[in-house]
Amino acid sequence: MTTDSKPISDQMLIDGEWCGALSGDRIEVENPARRTIIATVPRARTEDVDAAVRAADKAFEQWRKVAPRDRGKLLHEIAVVLESQIEEMAQAIASETGNAIRTQARPEATAAADIFRYFSGLASELKGEQIPVGDNMLSYSRREPIGVVGAIIPWNAPVLLAALKIAPALCAGNTMVLKTAEDAPLGVLLLARACNEVLPRGTLNVLCGYGHECGAALAEHPQVRKLSFTGSTNVGKSIMRAAADRIAPVSLELGGKSPSIVFPDANEDWVVDGIVSAMRFTRQSQSCTAGSRLLLHDDIFEPFLEKLAAKTAALKMGDPLDEATDMGALINKKQYDKVCNYIDEGLSLPGARLITGGKPDSEGPFSKGYYTRPTIFADASNDWRLAREEIFGPVLVAIRWRDEDEVIKMANDSHYGLAAFVWSRDIGQALRTAHQVEAGWVQVNQGIGQLPGQSYGGVKQSGLGREYSLESMLDSFTHKKSVTVKLDIPNPTSQNKPNT
Ligand code: ADP
Repeated sequence: MTTDSKPISDQMLIDGEWCGALSGDRIEVENPARRTIIATVPRARTEDVDAAVRAADKAFEQWRKVAPRDRGKLLHEIAVVLESQIEEMAQAIASETGNAIRTQARPEATAAADIFRYFSGLASELKGEQIPVGDNMLSYSRREPIGVVGAIIPWNAPVLLAALKIAPALCAGNTMVLKTAEDAPLGVLLLARACNEVLPRGTLNVLCGYGHECGAALAEHPQVRKLSFTGSTNVGKSIMRAAADRIAPVSLELGGKSPSIVFPDANEDWVVDGIVSAMRFTRQSQSCTAGSRLLLHDDIFEPFLEKLAAKTAALKMGDPLDEATDMGALINKKQYDKVCNYIDEGLSLPGARLITGGKPDSEGPFSKGYYTRPTIFADASNDWRLAREEIFGPVLVAIRWRDEDEVIKMANDSHYGLAAFVWSRDIGQALRTAHQVEAGWVQVNQGIGQLPGQSYGGVKQSGLGREYSLESMLDSFTHKKSVTVKLDIPNPTSQNKPNT
């Protein structure tokens, strides 16, 4: 039997010091699988945001002057510290998010350390260009840091998403104020502890607080020169509006309703496994890249779904801290109620056919936490709310198609455009489809997670800008300054000769 991991840290990080909110107010953090309070953290508001931004602004003057390779070395040191505390972070992530430790939390903690390692090696790539303008002029560009970055992250993969903002922003010479998600601050505070062991004070400041008070204050702060946000499309829009007031650049990683297109030659077990992985069932599908619209060819519709139902039903739902668990609990009551509403809607829709899952248990051990089983509705229409809205829970809709043009039209009939998955043994057909789908990232015959080095982000209302790569660091966290120099200035001795 596992036990609740102890409260990890109950303070936030401003100017190198661990502190509470100026008001003294706190937020409770719940283990959503057990519905027990495992910690409290400060509830930061405008005045705390202001203190953090001022610290980051002050630190920027020195940090920007540290040679890029030396900044990279410090990021590398952070990676080493993180690698020594993976288990502690994994326990924290599993306890606060409800994500299973073996399938999700430990891989997330490991990936976060890897992100620091990846960006630590990229510092020398912060280089500019020399522009050929003739022998009498030198024109070159420099990649300069922007200043204080305000970063806001959600709870679904909190430590990894924090690493994805901190590592490239700091590598590029910016300083940062990062707001954790109110539901999942503990793992990120451990990440912050590792950073604070290595970095000069004020370089990274980490706040805990609610979106409408702490997040909004950060987005609106005049000294925040760049906003980097991951979360829902609606909040993303409000971040962009706040940035518009002072023409601050934004990067937005938002929602998705990603299609998974299965061709008739792909009625095979490995594809079924791939669909389970693409749907992120083992993270309760709380992922923006989840392939939550299964576009299945009519010829294989029934036999494929039969196999898929058997696979998903075999996933072991259980306590996130139990090593045997494949799939844990949803994050909180709000999400749980929302997902249950979608399931109720599916059950009441004429024509919708429940293949597996359904309403969560109302009694027994799973009724004690926010547990929902993988749920699949067949014979869905691409027009249904279930097929159009991001559910952020393990509810998959299966839609029939017959014609290639029709399936591409359906795939693109969405205001989202984050990810897509194409499944076929005919690579020509798969790639033709991949090229026509409106998405920032298309996977063919696999449904894995993002890889460092691969630019990741959405089109349409799924976002703006990219993460995970060198290109993303340059585009999101630097601005390009051009310097032009006249090389043939007249010789002072031949000019202004004194009168004789
Ligand atoms: P989710 O549904 O994943 O919670 P949100 O977009 O609501 O997605 O939250 C993502 C992050 O944005 C969280 O850290 C949250 O506190 C923050 N947030 C929510 N509302 C606002 C807001 N109005 N301004 C700034 N940040 C916000």
